[in-house]
Amino acid sequence: MSRLKNLIKTCPENILASDWMNWHWQLRHRLHQPDDFKPYLDLTAEELGAFKNTQKLFKIQTTPYYASLVNRKDPKDPIRKILVPHTKELSSGAQSMSDPLGERRHSPCRRVVHRYPDRVLFLITDTCSVYCRYCLRKYFTGNDEAFISPKEYQEALNYINQTTSIKEVILSGGDPMTLGDARLIQILTDIRNIDHVEIIRIATRMPVVCPMRFTPELLNKLRLFHPLFIMTHFNHPQEISFESAQTLELLVDHGFPVFNQMVLLRGINNDALVVQELSRKLLALRVKPYYMFQCDPSEGTDHFRTSITESLQIQKELWGKMSGLAMPNLSLDIPGGGGKIGLVPDFCTHKSKEKWSFKGWDGIEGDYINP
Ligand code: SF4
Repeated sequence: MSRLKNLIKTCPENILASDWMNWHWQLRHRLHQPDDFKPYLDLTAEELGAFKNTQKLFKIQTTPYYASLVNRKDPKDPIRKILVPHTKELSSGAQSMSDPLGERRHSPCRRVVHRYPDRVLFLITDTCSVYCRYCLRKYFTGNDEAFISPKEYQEALNYINQTTSIKEVILSGGDPMTLGDARLIQILTDIRNIDHVEIIRIATRMPVVCPMRFTPELLNKLRLFHPLFIMTHFNHPQEISFESAQTLELLVDHGFPVFNQMVLLRGINNDALVVQELSRKLLALRVKPYYMFQCDPSEGTDHFRTSITESLQIQKELWGKMSGLAMPNLSLDIPGGGGKIGLVPDFCTHKSKEKWSFKGWDGIEGDYINP
């Protein structure tokens, strides 16, 4: 696989490769406490303080694999900022919502979010392998319920079964790929038994934080449930290692369309060159850069959020420099549950009934005369 040849393999010298590449080993050895992080990074006094004070707001956890992607010499390392808590999380900031997307308002039963007529989110687990400090679903994620109760599961299935407008089911959480193979296959079988469901998507950050989860054995079982889309969540080019790239190649080779949804995050990726590098690398691995989300005003995320003006400026800088295939769509979820809207840079310089005038990304101007 020549596309992988310059990428770094992550296994540390003191760990057996057979352990490191085993997803059960990765989940069993998740890091929670400051001492767990010592092999991977040196916590500052400020970060140690944040460990004590932010646990109540949101659980702290990462796989060893994801922690190994941190450059321990760089205090501003982007992955470090995603997984290590900061005391800034404790400030209420300009906007701080426990459920910024208003999901609870759109839940016909506890594990289903039905915001749009033709699709639902099915929150199959509240557990993730890594807790991202900017998470939008802190009201639900990381509460250690691990798996849905049989009663809630049946309620959710009944709702999907009885609501014939539902054409797509998006398995989410938490991260559905933290479930074991047998449980995952049972859920997919139950959903595929519902005739009106056409598409299943799995929303997962596991290709980024635990790529060894996607074993060839599992992929051969999952391919029986096509059309099955994988919606993943890379935020920074540093997250693309040899192992994650290999997993993306395997997913596409097994026929899964893979789409990436990133979040614009201050101090992590709010730079057009970083977004461009990420998008190009993903596209070369046959992953479509799909959305670039405005960070939602979830509790403790003010320090991560960019202004809409800045986000539009980033999108404008990308315009023309990347093909449409590589371009992610800048999008914002209206706080409170109004749904997704697209944010598009404005290239219009004049507008009248007769004509609209535009200045393109490279400064060339032109008029469009209305018929
Ligand atoms: S993987 Fe997704 S659901 Fe889990 S903490 Fe990160 S952003 Fe939240």
